[in-house]
Amino acid sequence: MNFNMIINGEPVATANTFPVINPATEEIIYNCPAASQEHLDAAVTAANAAFISWSQVPDSDRQRIVHELADVIESNMEFLARLITLEQGKALQGMGSMFEVGGSVAWTHATASLEILVEVIEESEKHRIELHRRPLGVVGSITPWNFPLMIAVWHIMPALRAGNTVVIKPSAFTPLSTLKMIELMNGILPPGVLNVITGEADMGRAMTIHPGISKIVFTGSTSTGKEIMSNAAPTLKRLTLELGGNDAAVILPDVNPKDVAEGIFQAAFVNSGQTCAALKRLYVHEDIYESMCTALVEESSKFKVGNGLDDGVLYGPIQNKAQFERVCDLALDAKLAGGRFLTGGTPMSGPGYFFPLTLVADVSDGVRLVDEEQFGPILPIIAYTDIDDAIARANSSANGLGGSVWSADEKLAKELACKLECGTVWVNTHAQIQPNMPFGGVKDSGFGVEFGQQGLDEYLSFQSVFINKLSGDSA
Ligand code: NAD
Repeated sequence: MNFNMIINGEPVATANTFPVINPATEEIIYNCPAASQEHLDAAVTAANAAFISWSQVPDSDRQRIVHELADVIESNMEFLARLITLEQGKALQGMGSMFEVGGSVAWTHATASLEILVEVIEESEKHRIELHRRPLGVVGSITPWNFPLMIAVWHIMPALRAGNTVVIKPSAFTPLSTLKMIELMNGILPPGVLNVITGEADMGRAMTIHPGISKIVFTGSTSTGKEIMSNAAPTLKRLTLELGGNDAAVILPDVNPKDVAEGIFQAAFVNSGQTCAALKRLYVHEDIYESMCTALVEESSKFKVGNGLDDGVLYGPIQNKAQFERVCDLALDAKLAGGRFLTGGTPMSGPGYFFPLTLVADVSDGVRLVDEEQFGPILPIIAYTDIDDAIARANSSANGLGGSVWSADEKLAKELACKLECGTVWVNTHAQIQPNMPFGGVKDSGFGVEFGQQGLDEYLSFQSVFINKLSGDSA
């Protein structure tokens, strides 16, 4: 099987390549073409040329075409899911790669169905004021390695739906599923509307300074997000930055641990913890602390970690070596800080970047595992006495992506949840996202939202139209 960049509707191979590694075996899956500045320039030129006609396509036609993109993803679901498991590591089953492709289909249909609204702000005898929405031009999309296909869809679909054209660069760790999806979508879209180039940080950086790109949508780490913002300043690009999170969940003493253990566990370990809005710090009231620990250990015993292609495996390896080593370091540091390892804690024997599902009790704020985003299958469980103090500790993070409060008293839980400084708060659940609910971060988790009507607006600029009625008639 060949994997190519797609520029102006044409497959492009290169002499320069970089290896894509299967994290479950550490074997090279494919030597992927590596873009040069010339490839990026060609993709941006093609996207700008295609914008002239794509932005003029009647809205209902664009809606229909985006629905067709969902259909082509759906009819290649198993093929794409397998590619995701090979390059990303997550299990095919459960909340793994089949789920990711299914979500991509659902999100694409939902985005296709959104309307590009013209609002009437004022209608009087003298004036009519309308608010129109216009596409921006070329959108540059830069994606991470944790949900390679789904996050690409989250960037591409609203951009196209709004009438923009796109140049996307997937993470060099996981480019293959994106390359195939873009190839399939180019069977439907006019040439140049959707282009894909490959490469590492340098190529992402080149996109952020490129004068032919109007907006960057980026999902990835906070440090990269900050660099992007600075690099995008000279060309005054619009930005949506979906960055890291260190989400806290606060469990009130009226909760029965057995009732919530499954939900908490899933929210913390989804995609082996490599999820931006996963539950990453668990604050549990001292009255139920030990029983919550026991219930989570019980939950964790139900699952097997292994090669995501194998039957019965629901949790795969960590996606890459650097991240694996980071998780090992955090575990060691927590051990030295007196952490009580209820499960896991030491890397599994290789090959593959396997780390067991790990629950760490008796750690608190000030330990790296609590203070830093772990982005792996290891959850700190922190005891608290006073609820206001727990909320304050939850807010003491630089990040502000998501947070949750769990209680039998939903009214109280909502009141407390609304005190959390983050873009999304949940009550009695966590990390639950859906296409009609805007999602984004505050503080170091970035700005701008994705999904829903507000997410679509991130790909449009407002044009106010003020009509002075000379005749007194409506325009
Ligand atoms: P990363 O920032 O290292 O890389 C993300 C992408 O940016 C890659 O395509 C990479 O090649 C590119 N890149 C790297 N340096 C760049 C630069 N200077 N300029 C432009 N592009 C550059 O992130 P990652 O390690 O791939 O992803 C993990 C991080 O992403 C975690 O912190 C996680 O929380 C975050 N994340 C956030 C969300 C969200 O929606 N908030 C979703 C998924 C992941």
